[in-house]
Amino acid sequence: MIDVLIVGAGPAGLTAAIYAARAGVSATVLEKGIYGGQVSLTGEVDNFPTRPMMQGADFANALYEHATAEGAEVRFEEVQALELDGEVKKITTPGRVYEARSVVLASGAAHRKLGCPGEAEFTGRGVSYCATCDGAFFKDKAVAVIGGGDTALDDALFLANHCKKVCVVHRRDAFRAQKAKQDALRGRDNVEMVLSATVKAIEGDTKVRRCVLLTPDGEQTLAVDGVFVAVGLDPQTALYRGILPLDAAGYVQAGEDCQTPLPGVFVAGDIRQKPLRQIVTAAADGAVAAVAAAAYCMSY
Ligand code: NAP
Repeated sequence: MIDVLIVGAGPAGLTAAIYAARAGVSATVLEKGIYGGQVSLTGEVDNFPTRPMMQGADFANALYEHATAEGAEVRFEEVQALELDGEVKKITTPGRVYEARSVVLASGAAHRKLGCPGEAEFTGRGVSYCATCDGAFFKDKAVAVIGGGDTALDDALFLANHCKKVCVVHRRDAFRAQKAKQDALRGRDNVEMVLSATVKAIEGDTKVRRCVLLTPDGEQTLAVDGVFVAVGLDPQTALYRGILPLDAAGYVQAGEDCQTPLPGVFVAGDIRQKPLRQIVTAAADGAVAAVAAAAYCMSY
C-alpha cells in the first residue's frame, strides 16, 4: 500500500513527491512520458525565483534527482483508470493495479492543436509543437510561430537565433505574453509579426512549404519550411471526467488548498482551475497537496 500516489512527474508532481517523502510517508510517482512536464521542453526559464536564467532540461533533471534523492519512487507507466472514491484508491496501469491511501493528481497539460487542414498531415514533417526540440532542423530557414502567449514568444526568440526568418502569427492584435518578451522580439531584425491572423491551412509536398493565413485584408501565404504551433495547452483530465468536478475547459475545480470533494484525493499544478499557471505555482500546489495528503495518511 502506497501512502501518496502521485500522477504526473512535472513540477507539481515531483514537488509533491519531495514534500511527501520529507513528511515521512511513502511516495510513488507515475509518469506516462518524460519527467519535468512542459519545462523539459522549454529552452530557457527566466522567471523562477533565484534562478534568473536556467535551461528547462536542467531544471527538470534537478527536480527529478531531488525527488528520488528524498526517497520518492518514479515509475514510467501510463495511468489507464482510477477508482478514487473508496478508502483504498486503485490506480490501474498496463501492468499493475496500484493501491494507495491518498492520491495527488498532477497530470499537467498537453499541446493544443490548431485543427486546420495540413496540421496533422505535416506533423513531424515541418509542423512542430516544440521549438527547443526541433528548432535546430530549421537553421537558416523560414518558419512561422503560431500563438501570442509566453510559449509562442519564447519559441520565436529561440528560433530567431537559428532561422533566417521567423514570422509570428497571432489571432488578435495584442499579445498575451509578458511585455519583456514582446520587447525582446521587437528588437530582432529577422522577426515579423502578423497580427489578427489565423491559419487557414498548412500546405506542402513531402514537407511543409507554405502556411496560408486569413487576415483582415484577405488571404496571405507565407513561404515557410516549418510551422511551430504554440497555441496553449489542454488539461490532461479526461480520465477524471465523471469522478471529479471539471470546468468547461476541463480543469479540475479545486481551490488553493488543492482538495477535491473526494477524501484523500488532491489536485496540483496545471490541471487545477487557477489564474496563473507557472512552474512556481505548480510547485506550490505540489507542496500544498502533498502536505495535506501526508496528514490525511497519518490520520488514516
Ligand atoms: P497561453 O498563455 O494559453 O497562450 C496561448 C496563445 O495561443 C494565446 O495567445 C491564444 O490567443 C492563442 N490561441 C489559443 N487557441 C488558439 C487557436 N485555436 N488558434 C490560434 N491561436 C490560439 O499558452 P502558453 O503560451 O502555452 O502558456 C501556458 C502557460 O504557461 C501560461 O500560463 C504561460 O504564462 C505559462 N508559460 C510561462 C512561461 C514563462 O514565464 N517563462 C513560458 C511559457 C509558458 P489569445 O491570446 O487570443 O487567447
